[in-house]
Amino acid sequence: MPVGTLGSVKGVSQDILEELGVQILLGNTYHLYLRPGVEQVRQLGGLHRFMAWPRPILTDSGGFQVFSLNELRKVTEEGVTFRSHLDGSAHFFSPESAMEAQIGLGADIMMAFDECTEFPADRERTRESMELTRGWAARSKKYFEEHKHEVPWGADHVGADALVRPAERSSADLGSAPSASLRSPARTRASGPTQTQALFGIVQGGMDAALRKESAERTIEIGFPGYAIGGLSVGEPRAVTREIVEATLPHLPADKPRYLMGVGTPEEIIEYAKAGIDMMDCVLPTRAARHGLLFTSQGKISIKQARFAADRGPLDPNCDCRVCQRYSRAYLRHLYAANEVLAQVLNTVHNLSFYLDTMRSVRHSIALGNRAQLLSGEQSGVKP
Ligand SMILES: [Zn+2]
Repeated sequence: MPVGTLGSVKGVSQDILEELGVQILLGNTYHLYLRPGVEQVRQLGGLHRFMAWPRPILTDSGGFQVFSLNELRKVTEEGVTFRSHLDGSAHFFSPESAMEAQIGLGADIMMAFDECTEFPADRERTRESMELTRGWAARSKKYFEEHKHEVPWGADHVGADALVRPAERSSADLGSAPSASLRSPARTRASGPTQTQALFGIVQGGMDAALRKESAERTIEIGFPGYAIGGLSVGEPRAVTREIVEATLPHLPADKPRYLMGVGTPEEIIEYAKAGIDMMDCVLPTRAARHGLLFTSQGKISIKQARFAADRGPLDPNCDCRVCQRYSRAYLRHLYAANEVLAQVLNTVHNLSFYLDTMRSVRHSIALGNRAQLLSGEQSGVKP
C-alpha cells in the first residue's frame, strides 16, 4: 500500500496511481484529523469522494503518529493527550474518538487504536503496554459496532466490495487494469450502503515472542476480520523484526488478512510475503524517491551522483514504467540537481512502479504455486 498521508501520495495524481495498478492506499488519521479535519472530509462525502479515489483505502488509528510525537503526548488508560505538531494545540485521542474519526473518513479498512511500544522497552513495560492495547482493542470494536452505520458512503461505494472478494479478481490482478471492473455498476450490491467498513485488530508485545503470542491470542478472542502486526520498524535491528514477525505469524489465522505495518525494502516485502504476510505499507518508495534514491532491478541508486550526468540509458532497463520508457538517467539527474518539481514526480512514479511490479510478481508466483499444487492434487486423484 503506497502511503497517502494527507489524502495524497506526494507528487502523483490519482489517475497515474490507477494506471500504475495501485489497488489500495493508506491515509493517516492523525494528519487528516488536524488538516483538513474529519468533519470537513465527512461532509464532503468521505475520503474516497474527497480525494476522488474509488479504490480501497486503509486508515491507521492515529496511535502510531501520536506515539512518534514523544514530548508532545501523555498516555493514560483513557487515551492519549497530545499537542499538534502544526500549532501546538491540545487534542485527545481515545479508542472511541479514533474510531469516530476513522468512521467519518470512511476508509474501507480502519485500524483499532493501539499503543506502539517504544524500543527498547523492558518486559514489564512491554506487558503493560500490550495490556493497554488489548483493552483499547475491545473498546475500539465496541464503539465500531455501535456506530459503523454512520460511515458516509453512498449506494455507489465499491471500494470494500472490490477488496472482500479477492477470488473473483485474481485474473484481473495479474493484468494491469482492474479499474474497469471497479467502476462497473454491476459490482455494486443491491444492498448498497448496508456495507460497512472493516475494523482490523493490532498485535503488539514489543520484541518479546511470548508476549506477541499472548497479544495475538487475546486480540483474536475479541475477533476481527483481519489482523496487523504493529510496533515493528521502530528502531530495532532488521534481524529482530524478522524474528518477531516469524514468531507472531503462526498465531494469526491464515484465512484472514495478515498485515505487517511499516515494512519495508523490496527484498523485505518479498521475504514477508513468502512468510505469509498479505498486506504491507511503507513510506520508503515515495520518501526515498523525493530524496533521489531509486530502487531498480540492479539495486538501489542515487540519481544525484555525477556519474549519471551523461548517461543516456533508462533508469532501469528492466522496468516498463512510463519514466523508464521515456527519460534518460542524465535527464533525471539534471532535474534532481536543478531542484525541479518534476524530479520528485518522476522518481516517485518509478519507485511505486518498481514496488507494485515486485508485488505483482509475488502474486504471480503464489498463483503459479497454487496452480501447480492443484494440478499435482488432480494427478494423484485428490479433489482440489
Ligand atoms: Zn521505471
